[in-house]
Amino acid sequence: MKSIKYNLQDIFNQITTIAQKCGRDPKEITLLAVSKNQSITVVKEAISAGQNCFGENYAQEGVDKIKILANPDLVWHFIGRVQSNKSCLVSKYFDWCHSVNCLGLAKRLNQQRSIDKGPLNILIQINISCENTKAGILLEDLPMLASQINNFPHLNLRGLMAIPKKSKDDYHQRIEYQRLKTAFDQLKNNYPSIDTLSLGMSGDMETAIVFGSTILRIGTAIFGQRN
Ligand SMILES: *Cc1c(COP(=O)(O)O)cnc(C)c1O
Repeated sequence: MKSIKYNLQDIFNQITTIAQKCGRDPKEITLLAVSKNQSITVVKEAISAGQNCFGENYAQEGVDKIKILANPDLVWHFIGRVQSNKSCLVSKYFDWCHSVNCLGLAKRLNQQRSIDKGPLNILIQINISCENTKAGILLEDLPMLASQINNFPHLNLRGLMAIPKKSKDDYHQRIEYQRLKTAFDQLKNNYPSIDTLSLGMSGDMETAIVFGSTILRIGTAIFGQRN
């Protein structure tokens, strides 16, 4: 197996190549290392290789890592479904939440945020392929939820997150990515705080970058298969 350092460098090289090919500045794109189910040892290895943004899906597992590593240079993103009894862990310990999909959750995250940490960065999750099994709101419900979140003092609305359905039908897939990009650009026009599109995993990095992704969420390609 190749080292984490090698994998990170390899992904950065790919990001640079793809970004340049479509006329984007690679510096606009953040690589989020998805460390769910990975050990502290492995996360430390990534930190030694210069990685500082990590994504976690399970609140308690993430909080344990945040506490053990206790490193103020690290940025922690919560990317999983937020169970209602875990919202306080997400709000108290994480810097970002990518999976906000209703007003009730936003309200709790706002109430539970400690003032001294500054506002929690929020992405609204969009169910872009309209799948029953996936979380997120439909695009038609975005204007309302965005305006509500924008009013919370302890939340900072930064943009959108989506997990498009995997498909071999390139044409239809591109329509979905384009729809998301259009919604993101509109939101950006309406709110000056919007600058983040969390889109793209190991399998769809290239399409995601072409359609404006600013955060790629990548696990397996950095750390190998999860335990
Ligand atoms: C697990 C996960 C990822 C990373 O997936 P890999 O296949 O390991 O790259 C990205 N985004 C979300 C929301 C995830 O749950």
